[in-house]
Parts: sequence; structure tokens; C-alpha cells
Amino acid sequence: MKGDANPMQSAHAAPRCQARSKRNGAACRAPAVRGWTVCRMHGARGGAPEGSRNGAWRHGGRSRESIEGREGIAALIEAAQQIARVLNRRAGPTPGEPPA
Ligand SMILES: [Zn+2]
Repeated sequence: MKGDANPMQSAHAAPRCQARSKRNGAACRAPAVRGWTVCRMHGARGGAPEGSRNGAWRHGGRSRESIEGREGIAALIEAAQQIARVLNRRAGPTPGEPPA
């Protein structure tokens, strides 16, 4: 770094934390963590680890990916049943509904 440049200039120019005081509404003013809108004291990088890094992970059947996959399949089944109803040709008995 050149002698005339202030090495802290880039640090001072960093984006600021978006958090506001709950007492007086004043802005936090601390630098935001890279990739976050808040500083390290206001929740950046917070929360439990994702996926298999989380201590409660067992088999992945409750993972966001698995749940979304099941929901997608259920939506496809529901759409197919609606089409079948429209065509008045039931694809099969609907659970909880007496067969027509
Ligand atoms: Zn903050």
C-alpha cells in the first residue's frame, strides 16, 4: 500500500448495519458482515448449521429439499385428480371420499 493512502479508508467505506435501536431508533453504524445487511452483533451468520452439519440431522427426510419434493409430487397428484374429475373419469378413489 502506498504511503499516502489511508489503509482504513476501505474499511470505513464498508456498508453499514441496517439494524436500528429499539429504544431510540438510532442506526447501528457498525460495518455489515460481507454478504449480509447487518453487523456481527445484529444477527449476521446467525442460526443453526444447515443440513447434515446440524446436530439434529438424522436421515434428511425432513430436509427442505425432501419436503419440497413431496409437496411437488402431491401437487402433481392433485392436478391429475382434478383433470380426471373434469373428464368425469376418476383416476382412482380419493382418500376420505366415497367412491362414485
Ligand atoms: Zn448492527
